[in-house]
Amino acid sequence: MTIELVPAGSEAEETPNPRNIYDPITKNVRTWEDVEETRDCPLCQVIKYAVEDTRTSWLSPSGPHSCELMLKRLHGWYSADRMHFGVRYLEVTAKFDWNTSHGIELLPVESEEYPGYFPGCLVDPQGIDVGRVRSWLSGCQNEHRDLCRHLESPQFRKIREHILVFEVEQQCLVYLPVDGRYFALSYVQGNVQSLRTLRGHVQSFMTQNGLLSINDQLPKVILDAARLTAQLGERYPWVDALCIVRNNTASKDLLICAMNTIYESAFLIIFAVTGTDSNAGLPGVRPTQRGRSAYC
Ligand SMILES: [Zn+2]
Repeated sequence: MTIELVPAGSEAEETPNPRNIYDPITKNVRTWEDVEETRDCPLCQVIKYAVEDTRTSWLSPSGPHSCELMLKRLHGWYSADRMHFGVRYLEVTAKFDWNTSHGIELLPVESEEYPGYFPGCLVDPQGIDVGRVRSWLSGCQNEHRDLCRHLESPQFRKIREHILVFEVEQQCLVYLPVDGRYFALSYVQGNVQSLRTLRGHVQSFMTQNGLLSINDQLPKVILDAARLTAQLGERYPWVDALCIVRNNTASKDLLICAMNTIYESAFLIIFAVTGTDSNAGLPGVRPTQRGRSAYC
C-alpha cells in the first residue's frame, strides 16, 4: 500500500469540506493483525514503529485491535510565498479497547519535488542547521506580522525597563536596548547549584567581559544558549539565573510575576528538553555533541 502525500490544492477531490482539517479526505480501516503481519509495506512498518515507540505511555496491556488511516489537511504557513497554504498529512489512530484510541500524526518530509511545502524535515544529527532556524525567524518576522508582535504588549511595556539580558558580544549583562529583541531560555535546573545574580554582582557583570570570568560557574545550558544566540546572529539571550537579581526584591517580584510576559515577548524561546539538569546543555550547538538522529 502506498499513499502519496502532495501539497493540497483546490481540486474537487477535496470536497465536501476542504477547509475543515477535522474532516478526513480519505479513510482506511484495517485490523492491527494485518498491519503487524505485513512485511513488505513501508507504510505499515512506519505505523508499527510509531505505535511501539509511544506504547509504553499508553498503559494498555494488549496491543491495538485496529488501525485507522486518515489523510487530513493542515493549514498554516509553510512557504514564504504561500500564505495559508495547506499540506496533507496522515493521521494514524490505533484502537485499543472500547474507549481507548491513540493517534499519531505522520507529517510528510520536504522533498526536492515540492521544496518548502511540507513541515517535516530531516535533521542533521551532528549539529543544528543554523540557516534553517534563521529562515524560520525571518519567516516569523516577515509573514506573521500582527500574529507575533514581540515586545509590543502593554504588559511588556510595564516591565521593559527592568529587563536585563546577556549581551553575547560584550559578554556582560545590559538592560535591553530600545530597539533590542531577545531570546528566552527555558530549561530544567535539576540538582545543579549554579551562580545567580545578586545585587553585589551587578556592577561587575555589567562591565565588558564581566560574564567571561564566571563562565566556569555557569551551567552548560546557559553557555550553549549564548553560543546559539550568537550563531543565529542575535545578541541577547535572557536567562532567569543571570537576568533576575535575586536579592533586589522589588524587581525580582515584578519579573517573577511577569514570567509569562517575558517568555511570550521573546523573539525566540530556546527550550532545553534533553537531560535532567542544566549541565546537559543544548544538543547540536557544539560540534559532535549530538549522538543520534532526530526529526522535527
Ligand atoms: Zn511568528
